[in-house]
Parts: sequence; structure tokens; C-alpha cells
Amino acid sequence: MANKTSDVLIIGGGVIGTATAYYLSRRKIRVVLLEKGELAGGTSGACDGLIFLQSKKSGLHLQMALKSQQLYQELAEQLPRSIHYQNKGGLVVMETEQDFKALQASVHTQQANGLEVDILDSRDLLAMEPHLSPKLLGASFSPLDSQVNPIAAAQALALGAQALGATILAGTEALDITRTSQGIDTVRTRQDRFQASIVVLAAGVQTPAIARMLGLEPPITPRRGQILVTESLPPLLGRCLLSARYLHAKYQTENGAGNQGGGVSMEQSESGNLLLGSTREFAGMNRRTTLSGLQTIARAAAGIIPALRDVQVIRSFAGLRPYTPDGFPILGRVPECPGLILAAGHEGDGIALAPITGRLIAELIADGVPSIPLDAFSYERFH
Ligand SMILES: Cc1cc2nc3c(=O)[nH]c(=O)nc-3n(C[C@H](O)[C@H](O)[C@H](O)COP(=O)(O)OP(=O)(O)OC[C@H]3O[C@@H](n4cnc5c(N)ncnc54)[C@H](O)[C@@H]3O)c2cc1C
Repeated sequence: MANKTSDVLIIGGGVIGTATAYYLSRRKIRVVLLEKGELAGGTSGACDGLIFLQSKKSGLHLQMALKSQQLYQELAEQLPRSIHYQNKGGLVVMETEQDFKALQASVHTQQANGLEVDILDSRDLLAMEPHLSPKLLGASFSPLDSQVNPIAAAQALALGAQALGATILAGTEALDITRTSQGIDTVRTRQDRFQASIVVLAAGVQTPAIARMLGLEPPITPRRGQILVTESLPPLLGRCLLSARYLHAKYQTENGAGNQGGGVSMEQSESGNLLLGSTREFAGMNRRTTLSGLQTIARAAAGIIPALRDVQVIRSFAGLRPYTPDGFPILGRVPECPGLILAAGHEGDGIALAPITGRLIAELIADGVPSIPLDAFSYERFH
């Protein structure tokens, strides 16, 4: 068993771990990233790719998302492989009067917080998206909402990091992690022992299992989301879309009756397939799809684009969102465990927030202080 050293060791090769590896490598910091399976083999490979600004809470959450969207534009130019970034704009559609009132209030707050967003009535909405149901009452629209292919993004970030000197080890599981009073001692894999002055834990829903080896309990719980994929279709939807009910379910914390969340998210990929998502369920580590979950999504989607009733569904899958009790990620150092940085718990926002997360963690390590304060995302807020 060989001893290997680096400045920083990252555990987890999803979008968060690979973005962190990329931004650290840009700062000329020596990085090793361990991924137990394939890159993006966890939640980052079982999700939508929406960079949706309208779904973020006003304040720090929105500020981070705005910055992250700008970083995606740069990454689309900088990275050695396409991330299929498309700045299409996004709609939150309203089906009821209640949706209308709630959305109107949130649009005003988001405008005051610097987001370019407006309300469209049903006529303007149909002029923009003619395949939507005429029963919809309208939508809010932001030209900044965008879309990316999350698997391509994680792979391109890893390739970009590698080109700058990082070592990316897929198929390499961190099996054991030990500490001393000064810091992390060793991370052991089947083949080797790794030592680094800083370990970044970016293992998504598996973060608590690893943190427990260090005596820590980050409250990250898997929240399942199921997705349907249609056959490739002619253009039906030009923009990214969420229903107002979907947004409501995102911020509901209880495991309600039926356990399905409600509402729908939609995006049409470059190849013409529509991704229709997604439930919000607390079902442990179970990544299976269910007939009732898929039916709920299909029904909600056909209510928004009636032509979907007759299309073929070619695939379904489920992923596990790393949920925290307040809906925000856990980012930064953990005072009781020197040498450890947590970067996990992004729930349904990990794709949108990956670049800013990677950049802030790199700033924390390289400069000591990140350009956006991370206090609101601290581990201690739960303890
Ligand atoms: C249905 C669904 C739809 C979504 N839609 C969106 C969306 O439109 N926009 C958005 O912003 N977000 C969305 N999300 C959320 C987003 O997918 C997640 O927040 C994000 O993928 C989390 O990334 P991560 O890198 O933290 O975790 P992961 O992608 O799970 O990466 C963690 C990695 O750590 C590895 N790992 C675990 N343990 C070890 C170990 N011991 N050693 C080495 N490696 C280990 C895992 O194999 C895994 O690859 C969605 C999620 C779901 C489920």
C-alpha cells in the first residue's frame, strides 16, 4: 500500500467535487479527487440540468445562483469539452389563481434582489411557447435561466482540472478516514493511503456516512426525484419550465401524504428528448422509480403541454437529492475537525450552484476568505 500526498484531497466526483477540483487547479493547488464509481455516477448523473434562478430564495441563495450562472458562461468557453450549456430563459407557469398571487409576490422580491424577471399573461405566454395549454393563467419569465448537461459538465470539469495538473481517480473508494487533534491523518482506499493538509468532502447523499468516521453528523437526507424521458421530438418547448406547484413542493419540508411533491419540471434536450420531472420523496437510499410517481409526473406534464399525451416515454430513472433541513448546502470548514471542508447538501440546486461552490471552496483554501461569506452555510448552524 503506497502513501500518496497532495495539497487537497476531494472525496466525490459529482458536479460539486469536480467543480472544486477545477477551481483549485486553476489556483495551482495540487489536487487528488477520489470517486468510488464513475464520474457523475451519483446524483449528478440522475437529474435535470436546470440552472434555474427563479427557483432560488431571494438573498444569498439567489446571489450565489446569479454568480454561478455567469461562471457557467465562462466554463462553456474554458472547458476542454462541451457542457451543452444553453441560455434559453425559463418559465414558471401558473395553473391557478393561488399560483398567480404567490408568484406575483415572489417576482417582486426577486426583482428587488437584482433578478431580471417579469410576469407574462396567458396570451404572451402562448405567443412565446405555442404548445403550452391555453388553460394556463400565465408565467413568470427570466431570460437568465439556463440549462446544461450535468454528466457532460462533471466530466468536462474533471478533464479541465486534469489538464491543469489534478489527479482524478475514478473507481477509487475512500474506505476509511482517520484524524488526529491537528487534522485529518489518512484517507485509505483499497490500494493506497492518501494524505493531504485539507480534505474536501463532496460525497452528496453519502457525505454523512463518511463524516461519521470523523465523529460528525451533517444532517443530509436523500430526497428522491423520479424523471421520465420521452422519445426525441420536434421542438415543443423552447425554454426551461417549472410549474408554480413544483416550486411550492421544493420548499415543503414535510413528507406529505402520497409523498409525491407535485408539479412538474420540463426541459427539451438538444437531441429533442423531453425530460419530465420530478417527485420529491423521502424514501431512504432507494433509487427505484414507482408507477405512482411516474403517473403523477405524466399527468402534470400533459396538463401543461397537451401534445405530450400521445408521445412515447423511452426511459425513467430516479436520483437522490442531498436534502438539508433548511434547504441550503453545508459549505466550509468544521471547527471541531481541523483540515476538513464540507461541500455537500445542495438538494435540488447542485447543478445550478456547482461552479460557485467550487470557486468559493477554492477561495477559502487559497485565500483563507471566500468572496461570498459562507457563515449561513456552516455545519454549526445545525449543531
Ligand atoms: C430528479 C432530480 C432532478 C434534479 N434537477 C436539478 C436541476 O435541474 N438543477 C439543479 O441545480 N439541481 C438538480 N438536482 C440536484 C442535483 O442533481 C444535486 O444537487 C447534485 O447532483 C449534487 O451533486 P454532488 O456532487 O453533491 O453529489 P453526487 O453527484 O451524488 O456526487 C457525489 C459522489 O461521491 C461519490 N462517493 C460517495 N462516497 C464515496 C466514497 N466513500 N469514496 C469516493 N467517492 C464517493 C459518489 O459515487 C458520487 O459520485 C436534481 C436532483 C434530482 C434527484
